Amino acid sequence: MPGFTPGRRYQPPFMPFKRQPFEKRALAKIELAVKGPLFGCRMCGNCLLQETALICPMECPKGLRNGPCGGSTPEKCYVDESRPCIWYKIYERSFKLGCEAILLEVLPPMDWEKAGMDAWSDVFIQAKKIGVKNIVTGLTQREAGSASKTVDSIFRPVRQPEWWQGDSLYHAPKYTEPVSELERRLKAGEFVVAAEVTPPLSVNTDKLKENIELLKPYVAAINFTDGPSAIPRMSSWACSKFALELGAEPVMQIAARDRTRVGLQSEVLGAAALGVRNMLCLTGDSMVLGPGPRGRMDIVDLDAIQMLWILRRMRDESKYLDGREMKNPPQYFLGAAATPFASNMKFQALREQKKVNAGAQFFQTNVVFDADALDEWLNEIAKRDILDKVYILIGIAPLKSFKIAAYMNDKIPGIFVPEKILKRMEDAKNKGYEKEEGLQIALELIEKIKIKQGVHGIHLMAIGWEEIVPRIVLEALGYQPSFSSPKSVVVG
Ligand code: SF4
Repeated sequence: MPGFTPGRRYQPPFMPFKRQPFEKRALAKIELAVKGPLFGCRMCGNCLLQETALICPMECPKGLRNGPCGGSTPEKCYVDESRPCIWYKIYERSFKLGCEAILLEVLPPMDWEKAGMDAWSDVFIQAKKIGVKNIVTGLTQREAGSASKTVDSIFRPVRQPEWWQGDSLYHAPKYTEPVSELERRLKAGEFVVAAEVTPPLSVNTDKLKENIELLKPYVAAINFTDGPSAIPRMSSWACSKFALELGAEPVMQIAARDRTRVGLQSEVLGAAALGVRNMLCLTGDSMVLGPGPRGRMDIVDLDAIQMLWILRRMRDESKYLDGREMKNPPQYFLGAAATPFASNMKFQALREQKKVNAGAQFFQTNVVFDADALDEWLNEIAKRDILDKVYILIGIAPLKSFKIAAYMNDKIPGIFVPEKILKRMEDAKNKGYEKEEGLQIALELIEKIKIKQGVHGIHLMAIGWEEIVPRIVLEALGYQPSFSSPKSVVVG
C-alpha cells in the first residue's frame, strides 16, 4: 500500500509510447522510485497530485481526471468493489483540508505522448522560466497568498497546456436565442417533461418509431440512451435522426466510455449538421456492467466534464480541442447527468458546479425515489450559486415490478430506493397490482417534485414501459386521473 494514498495500487505503470533519450528514462525511473511507494504513481506523465490532495487520481479504475462518476459511494468503487472510490477519498480529504475549491478547475484529458514519462522535467522547465530568485521571493514573502500564487505559477502552466486552458470559472453560453425547442420551453418557464427511449438492439426500427410517435405529443424531448449498461445498441445519433424525421425533439446522449477525442468531435459535428441540437454528456456505465469479453476498463480517453468543455469551446469559441480555429461552429444545447444520491451531496454539488462551469446548461438527474431527501441536494446546489445557471429535470422511473425496484436499489450505482417504497411494491406484488402501485408512486413523486424551487421539469425513464408515459404526463400535470383505486385500473 503506497504511503500517502488510501487506494490500493495494483495497476501497472503506463509505458512510454516511444523510446526516450537516456536522461528522460533515468528521470522517469527516479520519479517512479519516489512517487510509486508514496502515492502509487502510475507514471501518467500528466501529474495532478497538487490538485487532488496528494492522492493519485489514476488509481481510479476508469482513469477519470475530473472527479467521481455517478456510481461513487463512500464504501467502494463499483468497477472494482475490492477498493474504495479514490475520487470519494480525494473529495473527502480536500474538504477536510479546506482546499476543495481547487477541485473545480477543469483538467485536461491526458496527453498520451507523455504517458510513461517523467512529469518533473516540465515542472523544472517552468520553474526555470520563472527564475529561482522570483520563486524564493514569492515563497518567503509575508504577503497573504504569495506562496500559493508562486506555487500555482509553476504548476498551473504545466497542468493547463495552451490547447486546453481549463479554469474554475463559469462560462455563460455566448448566444441568446434558444437553439432547440427544449431550450426554448425551459427559457419560457414551462415545466418540461422529457422521456427516455432505449435504442433498438438490431436494425429493426419499428418499435423505436412507435415509441417516438407515442411520446411525441406528450413530451418536450426524447432522450436516446447511448449503450446503457455497456450493451451495444443502435447509436443515439441515428435514433435522434429518426426522431427529427418524425417531428420529435431528440436529446442525443453521448457516453465518454466509447469516445476518443477525435471521435467525439467528429460525431457532434455530424449530429449538429443533421439537426440534433440537444446533447447530453455522460461518462457512461463501466464495461464491467456489460457482457464479456470486456474491453479495456481502466482508461476513458475523455470524461463527461472534459466533453462539456470541448463541446462548449467548439460552439462558443469556434475551437477544436487542440486549439485550432473552426469555421462554421456547431450549435447545440448542452446537458449533463446529475446524481443527487451518489456518495455525499456536498461532493456531488461540487461536481455539478464543475459541470455547469464546463458548459452544462441542463441537468437530467439519475432516478429519484425520495423527493424529501432531494431538498438537501438542491440546497447544496443553491449554496454553490448555480441554480440560476442550469435547468434541472428530475429523473422519475415508474416501477413496473417489485423485482425492478429491488434490482435498481441493489445493482444500479447512484440509485437509492427507500425502504417504504420497496415495501409498497412488495405488498402490491403479493396483492397483484404492482404496475398500478408503481404508477401511483411515480405520480406522488412528481406531485412533490414539481413544486420545488430550482426544478424545471421531469425526465421520465420508463425502461421498456413507454406506453405508461402519456398517462403519467396527463395525470401529473393536473388532468383528471382516470382511476380511483389501484385495482380498478388497467395499466400498460
Ligand atoms: S497523477 Fe500521474 S504522475 Fe501524478 S502520481 Fe498519479 S500517475 Fe503519477
